[in-house]
Amino acid sequence: MPANHDHHKVVIVGAGAAGIATAASLIARDPSLDIALIDPADVHYYQPGWTMVGAGVFQAPSTARPMQSVIPRGVRWIQAHVQGFDPSGQTVLLAGGRAISYEQLVVCPGLKLDWQAIDGLAQTLGRNGVTSNYRYDLAPYTWQLVRSLKQGRALFTQPPMPIKCAGAPQKALYLACDYWRQNGRLGQVKASFCTAGNVLFGVS
Ligand SMILES: Cc1cc2nc3c(=O)[nH]c(=O)nc-3n(C[C@H](O)[C@H](O)[C@H](O)COP(=O)(O)OP(=O)(O)OC[C@H]3O[C@@H](n4cnc5c(N)ncnc54)[C@H](O)[C@@H]3O)c2cc1C
Repeated sequence: MPANHDHHKVVIVGAGAAGIATAASLIARDPSLDIALIDPADVHYYQPGWTMVGAGVFQAPSTARPMQSVIPRGVRWIQAHVQGFDPSGQTVLLAGGRAISYEQLVVCPGLKLDWQAIDGLAQTLGRNGVTSNYRYDLAPYTWQLVRSLKQGRALFTQPPMPIKCAGAPQKALYLACDYWRQNGRLGQVKASFCTAGNVLFGVS
């Protein structure tokens, strides 16, 4: 095997919720299993917590942990960006040219948020009263807007699938309205929910 080539029985690409949960479950069943988790990120985020950050229930830093601290004991973390796959050679290719071969591969690099799909959105996010709970740095701004709005129109939107957590846009609406209700503002604040879907919930 060449010097820049490594082998693991199980290789997992992405150490988000899916990658960490899969590794933890496998190693719990067989502690001798040779598992490598590949992820370039220094920080692991608990994304569902961002809904609570946007509602003032959590502080943003409580949703972030050093990546090393969430890697299950006995699992090897390779801090690198996967750049390509070679299925016939049972190998993943890392940025920088290193190759890692496997017996079993789990691929879970998450969803890439496509802010550019809406004209002008990227330029106005985080100011002008435009926010999103789908970003760690913006969820606190959601809470700032909720607290400061005394009257006027509050627009909540949900794009078409696929999105992660179909409930998150609705939860932002309910939590914000609850705050305005408790503070006697609901009515002066008029909230609308605009969804690209035909129905509110996927399951009737
Ligand atoms: C605001 C919000 C609220 C939510 N609420 C809920 C909820 O209430 N309940 C619920 O079940 N779910 C909820 N979710 C959804 C849930 O958080 C996601 O479904 C989950 O985090 C997805 O996990 P994942 O591992 O697939 O992706 P992620 O957690 O996004 O992790 C992907 C990982 O892959 C890594 N990666 C990316 N590209 C590469 C590459 N090329 N090479 C190596 N690594 C790579 C990234 O660095 C990252 O660490 C919510 C999400 C959001 C944003």
